[in-house]
Amino acid sequence: AKDLGRGITIDFDDSFDVDALQQAELENELRATLLTGGISVMFQPLIDARSGAVTGVEALARWRKEDGVAIPPDIFIPLAERAGMIDLLGMQVLRTSLNAAAAWPALRLGVNISPLQLKNPRFVEQVEEATKAADFDPRRLIVEVTESVLISNPEQARRAIDGLKKIGVKVALDDFGSGYASIGSLRRFGFDRMKVDRSLVAALEVDQNAGAVLQATVALANALQIPVTAEGIETERQATVLRLSGCDELQGYLFSRPVSADEVTALYCGAEAGG
Ligand code: C2E
Ligand code: CA
Ligand code: CA
Ligand code: CA
Repeated sequence: AKDLGRGITIDFDDSFDVDALQQAELENELRATLLTGGISVMFQPLIDARSGAVTGVEALARWRKEDGVAIPPDIFIPLAERAGMIDLLGMQVLRTSLNAAAAWPALRLGVNISPLQLKNPRFVEQVEEATKAADFDPRRLIVEVTESVLISNPEQARRAIDGLKKIGVKVALDDFGSGYASIGSLRRFGFDRMKVDRSLVAALEVDQNAGAVLQATVALANALQIPVTAEGIETERQATVLRLSGCDELQGYLFSRPVSADEVTALYCGAEAGG
């Protein structure tokens, strides 16, 4: 039997129940964590492809449970979505990020937003309130949304994107190339930036055609005057190919892993910027 703590044990062969129980347990822990503001945020630098300077950061949510175990966002974000907690989680991440980035006037701030958050009719209003509360210029904020929302609920997506643009916030199409979004949707929805998915970048090493596909994709975006960030860059070779392809911004472990707010301040904003 497996010991789940608090005297709960379970037979190994009944694997469905183990999963369901662990799931429920994790959901309760996440709920408790949200009530105490326990989700933290790390920031990954965004690099100008020409100058090599850090011009912005992407905020990435982190959850370390009380027992010290770190749960990856690929687990707890979908969990929060299923459990109706994503609005709360998303706004906590946004507020935390805005407060930290208010001390970095030269950097842009990218924040991931779940498609479910766009369904909230008060979303744009809440973003505006949050930028005001943090005294953060909304033009420095870029909301990153994935294409799923464009397909499942295009009208909702359009309303939210239009609303964000009206208050000066920029909107990036995240994970481009991982699904079915077309270049056409970039313009139709008025996206300010495209982020090429890590899988396309990784394919450069193994697939002869991947380079051509990537080059054509970036060229089309550039033709529409939509700047392109390439994410998940791990090698110099990838960085070179992407620079030559016309990406204006690079992101990946080659340059930096996600780092704490204090590290951003110390490394990219000068000691005096920390206040
Ligand atoms: P994403 O938005 O595509 O974020 C980029 C992910 O790639 C991050 O993973 C980042 O740590 C990772 N990454 C960056 N450079 C490299 C690299 O060179 N190599 C590799 N292998 N990975 C790299 P992370 O932090 O685990 O986040 C995973 C996903 O979880 C994010 O993918 C995003 O979809 C979601 N997520 C994270 N934070 C939030 C949040 O606050 N709200 C929402 N809605 N989603 C979030
Ligand atoms: Ca992202
Ligand atoms: Ca992405
Ligand atoms: Ca992703």
